Amino acid sequence: MNNHVRNILISAIGIVGVLAGTVVWQAEHNLPLRSFGQFQLDVADGSVQSLLVQGVVVRVTAADGFQYQVVVAESMDLVSNLAGTGVDVEFAKDYGPVVQRGILVVLPVLLLIGAAWLFQLRRQQSGGGVGAMERRISFKAQDEKVSFQNVAGIPEAKEELLEIINFLKNPEPYRKVGAVIPQGILLQGPPGTGKTLLARATAGEAGVPFFNISGSDFVEMFVGVGASRVRELFAEAKKNAPCIVFIDEIDAVGISRGGSGSDSGNDERSQTLNALLVEMDGFSPKDTVVVLAATNRPDILDPALRRPGRFDRQITILPPDVKGRARILEVCASLKQVGPDVCLDQVAQNTPGFTGAELANLVNEAALLAARQGKDTISSLDFEAARDRILMGVERKGLVISENDRRTMAFHEAGHAIIARNTLESDPLHKITIIPRGRALGQTQQIPLTDRHAYSRVYLEGRIITLMGGRAAEEIVFRQHTTGAQDDLRQATEIATSMICLWGMSEKVGPRALALADDGFLRGQDSMLPTSEETARLVDQEVKSLLEHCYQQAIIILTREKCFMEHLAEILLQTETLDNEELDIIFDCSQKKQAEKATASQNKHQDHCASCPASAHCSRKFAADPGQDEVVTEAA
Ligand code: ADP
Repeated sequence: MNNHVRNILISAIGIVGVLAGTVVWQAEHNLPLRSFGQFQLDVADGSVQSLLVQGVVVRVTAADGFQYQVVVAESMDLVSNLAGTGVDVEFAKDYGPVVQRGILVVLPVLLLIGAAWLFQLRRQQSGGGVGAMERRISFKAQDEKVSFQNVAGIPEAKEELLEIINFLKNPEPYRKVGAVIPQGILLQGPPGTGKTLLARATAGEAGVPFFNISGSDFVEMFVGVGASRVRELFAEAKKNAPCIVFIDEIDAVGISRGGSGSDSGNDERSQTLNALLVEMDGFSPKDTVVVLAATNRPDILDPALRRPGRFDRQITILPPDVKGRARILEVCASLKQVGPDVCLDQVAQNTPGFTGAELANLVNEAALLAARQGKDTISSLDFEAARDRILMGVERKGLVISENDRRTMAFHEAGHAIIARNTLESDPLHKITIIPRGRALGQTQQIPLTDRHAYSRVYLEGRIITLMGGRAAEEIVFRQHTTGAQDDLRQATEIATSMICLWGMSEKVGPRALALADDGFLRGQDSMLPTSEETARLVDQEVKSLLEHCYQQAIIILTREKCFMEHLAEILLQTETLDNEELDIIFDCSQKKQAEKATASQNKHQDHCASCPASAHCSRKFAADPGQDEVVTEAA
């Protein structure tokens, strides 16, 4: 039974008990009522022993001990009436009905008020609003078993924290020279990059207690609850020093106070933040408490939090590079049964942009797939299947697709693939599939040979042309457009807009920033800077003309490669999926065929020209007609 139900039960039993007591008390005091005539007869009989007079109510006690009451007229002079009868008359104050009324009316009200007060008290103790009764926060330190060995791929962040570990282990050398160690460290980066893990590992390495709380645990409906929790947490931490306090998602409480509005949520948040700032200022050099905080939104944090003496050291943790991914995969795979055919370096190569959490998830998904098939070890095929599942979603085996739609998809994906092979600086193809997964009916995957940190204009244009390849293929083959290009168009437009507004890649707009990139790590929207109407119109035109130019490029390439596109689409319709090795073979074969055709055509052309009196006119004709096979082969 939870506290909430118990409180209600106790209150209900209390109220019922008091009401029952009142009824019993009243029953006892409400003696049987007799008429005044009967009373006179009893007096005359000499059976009345004594009277207790309370106003107009007289309690009569008979000689045999029986009691009853009788109501008399206010004006009646009882004493003189009973003179000589030997009845003992006693007078009492007339407050009986008031007490009774008090008990009957006031006490239940008091009880109800008491119950409500108890309810409120318990709610405040549990620190929450409705539904938060059970959410009493206990600031219990954990002894961390995690060490730096469990954290891979982020050596710089580990190095930064070594100093903190040394200080927590042995603060004396630091104190001797008067060095003050940073007491607040902000770990910032995208979700899943290992911020929490790193904080735990720091406590584990230093061998100190670890207090872990989320920023959202502080903020409640009632103003002041969060602030008292902050004080409680720091008091507990100081008692347990040396220790580490870790506040996850600090942006929940540390959001900048610059905004307007003073609803209770904001009041509570700003009070909690103030309490946090005050507590962090309250550390003395003797306190060996280090506060680590994590956030994905450093851009919205209150500047007061970053002031020296508070979170003055910031460590940015980004998704790992290919080497880091391999190390993280090793750590995650060390707890699983991985088969000898799995090359973790290769898996790392095929997972650009994956964070530590995504890699841990990949290894686990692969293990689940292996277990589902009753295997003892995880194979490289399981890793590939797990990767597809994470990137593209679950295979929709039951989806019924018409032959027409399958053909459209096959040409759409073939279009992407052919352009990816024919554009400069393009990432190598990894896989094409027309098996529907998640929301996509097909996909063409490209994986860079090395991690890319900067993108050239040529690469970005190539990327847009590749994205346009699907729509261009539909146009060339079916002379119509389908909704399958929706996501391609969105991505292409985003890249084109960024090229013009963020990266100054348009001659007409010039080297000028027209938007501010989102500074957080959650891939939010870029915010446009104020511009004149004329500039906004120019940007629109530039985005449009860049997209149209890329689309035309896609049309040109695919028109040139139409035969090959048809060939590739037919193979795709049969096999449904082609991996990079199969694609290489198909592309190599096609290139060879084209080269042979080109040589044959060249020879034919030369033979013809040798005997032709108008040879100059003839070669111009060939060059001017892009639809001709000869030109295709020459271009190839
Ligand atoms: P964050 O706090 O940045 O959102 P977490 O620390 O909660 O990320 O990471 C979630 C999980 O991902 C961890 O428990 C761990 O299994 C895995 N992980 C993340 N980064 C790493 C890393 N650098 N080394 C090993 N495992 C990692």
